Amino acid sequence: MTYTPAEDRYEKMTYRRCGASGVKLPAVSLGLWHNFGGDSPHENKRDMCRTAFDHGITHFDLANNYGPPAGSAEEAFGEILKTDFAGYRDELIISSKAGYRMWPGPYGEFGSRKYLMASCDASLKRMGLDYVDIFYSHRFDPETPLEETMSALADIVSSGRALYAGISSYNTEKTREAVAILDEMGVPMLIHQPSYNMFNRWVETDGLKDALADLGVGSIAFTPLAQGMLTKKYLGGIPADSRAAQGKSLAQSLITEEALNSVRALNDIAEARGQTLAQMAIAWVLRDNGITTALIGASKSSQIVDCVGAVSNLEFTADELAQIDKHAGD
Ligand code: NDP
Repeated sequence: MTYTPAEDRYEKMTYRRCGASGVKLPAVSLGLWHNFGGDSPHENKRDMCRTAFDHGITHFDLANNYGPPAGSAEEAFGEILKTDFAGYRDELIISSKAGYRMWPGPYGEFGSRKYLMASCDASLKRMGLDYVDIFYSHRFDPETPLEETMSALADIVSSGRALYAGISSYNTEKTREAVAILDEMGVPMLIHQPSYNMFNRWVETDGLKDALADLGVGSIAFTPLAQGMLTKKYLGGIPADSRAAQGKSLAQSLITEEALNSVRALNDIAEARGQTLAQMAIAWVLRDNGITTALIGASKSSQIVDCVGAVSNLEFTADELAQIDKHAGD
């Protein structure tokens, strides 16, 4: 069946400028880390991507290793680009990354030019694309000169494989160095992708959030829902279809009574605001414009619709923020 995107899709979303760049990103972006691999039904992946686009999500985030097996999320997305999104490429921001283990041997992970170039080409092939919009160094490599990693990113941009460069999970110090190196090469750093949510505030304590504002670099916060913990789903036990039950990246040992007490208290605050907890968790990440976009994951389309609803209330009173601070923290 031919897919026609919802005509009112751009009315359901807010778009925010990414740092000092010319590009705007949706307040909510969709990541394909889990539930888009070869282990998941393709029809559900299609449904989630269509639902996202129908609700104004223009940004889809991938990486070489998303699956399992590694690479299969990019293959699935490539298929969806053909069957559903053909003709809409210019309305989409598609990203990929390289940094984690992708193939055996010394050239299959981290930040060498050898690995980044090969991985970027392989990602483009899997997705059937001529270019991605953003290509990231997925993690800082302590053994490769930062100049080498950044010059590979700059060349990926100048060769047309990507339109913009990004880094993920670099600390403040390395971020400042990376931005300066790229600047010298005439390629501005578009965006940083750190983890950030009410239970994980390292970007505040490390000073990264302030540094990015200072540098004019945009930001996309991954795991804004703490992998699902910042929703109501674990309050009544561990549902069989949840990430924690499936032995994926969310360890059941993290779902402690103490954590659930915080979730319960946060859920009460969300209800008082007329939001679901997932919506409040997203709004909180986006508060004060410090973060450009919240990068959610999903296992079903209804979750995406719920998350997009966050954009109708992104404001917090000082009292609400103080209440949240009592229950939010590492
Ligand atoms: P989230 O914190 O948004 O967690 C997503 C999970 O939360 C879903 O799989 C689902 O869990 C649950 N969920 C989502 N919406 C709702 C809702 N409305 N109500 C109830 N439950 C909900 O993010 P992820 O951990 O999935 O990460 C998001 C993206 O960030 C990734 O896809 C990837 O693109 C990026 N990422 C980047 C990393 C990096 O190193 N740069 C590392 C990790 C992620 P369930 O499956 O149980 O239904």
